[in-house]
Amino acid sequence: MTDLKITSADAGWRLAHSYAQLPQIFHLAAEPVAVSEPRLVMLNGALASSLGLNAEVLANHAEWFTGNRLIPGAQPIAQAYAGHQFGHFTKLGDGRAILLGEQITPQGERFDVQLKGPGRTPFSRGGDGRAALGPMLREYLISEAMHALGIPTTRSLAVTITGETVFRQGHLRGAILTRVASSHIRVGTFQWAAATGDQSALKALADHTIQRHDAALLEAEKPYLSFLEAVIERQAALIAKWQLVGFIHGVMNTDNMALSGETIDYGPCAFMDSYDPATVFSSIDRNGRYAYGNQPHIAQWNLARLAEAMLPLLHDEEAQAIALANESIHRFQELYQKHWLTGMRSKLGLFDEEENDEFMIQSLLAWMQKTRADFTNTFRALSSESLNDSDHFGDVEFQAWHSEWNLRRTRQTQSLTESAELMRAHNPAVIPRNHKVEEALEAASDKDDFSVIQRLLKVLESPYDRTLDQPEYQTPADSDAPAYQTFCGT
Ligand code: AMP
Ligand code: MG
Repeated sequence: MTDLKITSADAGWRLAHSYAQLPQIFHLAAEPVAVSEPRLVMLNGALASSLGLNAEVLANHAEWFTGNRLIPGAQPIAQAYAGHQFGHFTKLGDGRAILLGEQITPQGERFDVQLKGPGRTPFSRGGDGRAALGPMLREYLISEAMHALGIPTTRSLAVTITGETVFRQGHLRGAILTRVASSHIRVGTFQWAAATGDQSALKALADHTIQRHDAALLEAEKPYLSFLEAVIERQAALIAKWQLVGFIHGVMNTDNMALSGETIDYGPCAFMDSYDPATVFSSIDRNGRYAYGNQPHIAQWNLARLAEAMLPLLHDEEAQAIALANESIHRFQELYQKHWLTGMRSKLGLFDEEENDEFMIQSLLAWMQKTRADFTNTFRALSSESLNDSDHFGDVEFQAWHSEWNLRRTRQTQSLTESAELMRAHNPAVIPRNHKVEEALEAASDKDDFSVIQRLLKVLESPYDRTLDQPEYQTPADSDAPAYQTFCGT
C-alpha cells in the first residue's frame, strides 16, 4: 500500500540560508515563541504556487505560520539593522520578526520567508515581539494590492491568528503575518555595518547583496559604485510608481527602505483621495516629513545615508569616495523625474514627448488640488470616452485644460482610441479606498468575518479592469467623514 502520509516534501519547502552565512554581527538566533491556538485565516494560493509551494498542504499547517512548529529546513534568525527614524539614528534589528530561510523556487529564484509577530527576539528591547490582527491584515491587503497594481513589493503568504491578545491602546487579537521578500536587506542594514566600523563585514554585506540583487554587476569595473547606482535607479522608479497611484508609505525611515527596490513595511500607509501634496495619514507624522509630496525628497535623503555607509567601499581615499557618492545621489532627482514624467504621459495617453507636457501635467494637478478632485477618479474619468459624471468637469479652467490636452493628443500619430487604451492600462479603476480597508479590517477583527476582506482582495486583484464597474469600491469616503488617520502597526 502506498503511504499517503503528507510529508514536508509535499508542501514544497526548499529553504536555503545565504544571509545566515554573513558575519555574526548581522544576525542572532531567535526562536518563535509558541502561541496557544494557531488558526490560519489568510493564505495566498497564487503566491504559494509561484514559490513552488502546495497551498492545500500549507492550509493544514497553521502551526508553521506561527512558528509553533518550524517549517522543514528552517534556521530561525533575527536580522540586525540600524536606521534613521524620523531623522534620528538608532540601532534596531528585528524586534518582532524572524527570518526562517530563503525559499528557492522551481525557477531558481530566492525569496525570504519571514514571520512578523512571532514573539520576542534579542532585538525586542521593551517590545512584546507581537502584532495585532488589524495591522497584519492591512499589510496583507495593501501589499497584495500594490503587487496587482504592478508596483514592486514584499508579498504576503499567510496570516494566522494566535489565540492570544496583545495589549496596545487596548486588548487586541494577536496575529502573525508570513512575509515573502526578495530580501530584507535595508538601507539600515548597511548603516548597521558602517556603525560597527567593521569594514570586512561591510564588504561581506555588499558582496552578498550584489550577488542577490545585481549579480551581473559582480563583473563591473567598480561593482560597489555600480551597485549604489542600481539601488538609486530602483528607488527612483519605485517612488515614481507610488506617486503615480497616490500611495503614501507613511514611515519612510531608512530601516524601511529595501535595497531590492520592493516596497516594504506597511504600517501607517494609505492611498490619497483628493489630490494634495501635503497629504499625511500617519498619526505620528506631525510635521509631514513623510507627506505624499515629500516622498521623492525623503527617498533621496535615505539613499544619501546608504551612500555614506558605503563610502569605504567606493574609493580608498575618502574625498574621492565622497565625490563619487555625491555624484550618484544627485542623479536621483533626474532619474525620478524621468520615471514620473514617463508615467504621467502614459496616464494622460501620450506616446511621444513635447516640451510643454510637464507644464500641462502640472496645470492639471494644480486644478485638482484647488478643487479637491479625487486623484484616482480624475484620471479614471479622463480615460473614459466621455467625461460624463459630475459638475466638477464643467469648470471653465478644466474645460480649457481639457481642450489643450485633446489637441495635444491629436498631434501624435496614435489614434484617440489607442491613447485611451494606454490610459486605461495606467490609471487604476480601483485602489484600496481607506474606508473600504477599515470596513474589511473591522469585520475580521471584531466579528471574525473574513468574507469582507476576501471580497476586497478579489476586487483589488484586477485594478485596471474597468469592465467590472464597482461603484462601491471606487467612490471615496464622504467628504464630511472625519479626516482619515493611520497608526504604526506596532
Ligand atoms: P517598524 O515601525 O515596524 O518599522 O519597527 C521599527 C522597529 O521597532 C523595528 O526594529 C521593529 O522590529 C521594532 N518593533 C516594532 N514593534 C515591535 C514590538 N511589538 N516588539 C518588539 N519590537 C518591535
Ligand atoms: Mg520596519
